[in-house]
Amino acid sequence: MRIIYSADEMQQIANKYRELGKKIGFVPTMGYLHEGHLSLVRKAKEDNDVVFVSIFVNPLQFAPNEDLDKYPRDLRRDEELLKEEGVDFLFYPAVEKMYPDGFQTYVEVEKLTKVLEGKSRPTHFKGVTTVVLKLFNITKPHRAYFGKKDAQQLLVIRRMVKDLNLDIDVVGMPIVREEDGLAMSSRNKYLNEEERKQAVCLYKSLKKAEELINSGETDAKEIIDEMKKVIKSYPLAEIDYISINRLSDLEELKTIEKGNTLVSLAVRIGQTRLIDNMWF
Ligand code: AMP
Repeated sequence: MRIIYSADEMQQIANKYRELGKKIGFVPTMGYLHEGHLSLVRKAKEDNDVVFVSIFVNPLQFAPNEDLDKYPRDLRRDEELLKEEGVDFLFYPAVEKMYPDGFQTYVEVEKLTKVLEGKSRPTHFKGVTTVVLKLFNITKPHRAYFGKKDAQQLLVIRRMVKDLNLDIDVVGMPIVREEDGLAMSSRNKYLNEEERKQAVCLYKSLKKAEELINSGETDAKEIIDEMKKVIKSYPLAEIDYISINRLSDLEELKTIEKGNTLVSLAVRIGQTRLIDNMWF
């Protein structure tokens, strides 16, 4: 595996593979890799001739009060994991290279980013779409892989790809979980022992929603109230939001629409903000 620091060089490599008629699979990450990331990498390996992974902790998607500075990093370990998966190129740019002096161009998906995570983190998605479009232009993938863990992000990227006529197949992959159900996340590292135990409340509340929906409940408010009860039985948990939305446009739903419903939540456990969701 080669590590590439320069956007120009990465682009030249992408051009070369395209000229050879090879299919490029791309997995953007912020590093501190876990099995969730690796599931995307494995799928990219399966589907494509060459796989590029990026590690870039993108300052643009963090608000000033968020965890940019303490976001966990371990390049050596990430490198080993990616090598083991047979990744061909790791793109690892410096912040100054991605956003040099004078940078002033941004991409914004307007409506989908106003709800859920976008309501709690108003500048977040503008940072995400801007960096992802840059990364797409640098790595020139045929297919790009995103986790359903960040459900709204996946929908926003799909919208951007459609709206801007990007010729990229966006592949959404299932959430990979720990044994007790906690969705894997680099941020889980922030949790102390007791917080880690209580962090399972997000999954437990989603399982409650699943149980209700499977038994025929269609009233969104009923389901949300039951989910709240679950979360409130964990003393360290503080709800940011619990929401039920239509997957196709993220409009809030009063009634479950089979096959088109996203149940999602954000919960603070101590200082750590965690998100999770299920698709119905
Ligand atoms: P991040 O490094 O957190 O920006 O995540 C990079 C990619 O990995 C995103 O597309 C995430 O949705 C995906 N991802 C993160 N955690 C998981 C997980 N537990 N299961 C599946 N995909 C995940």
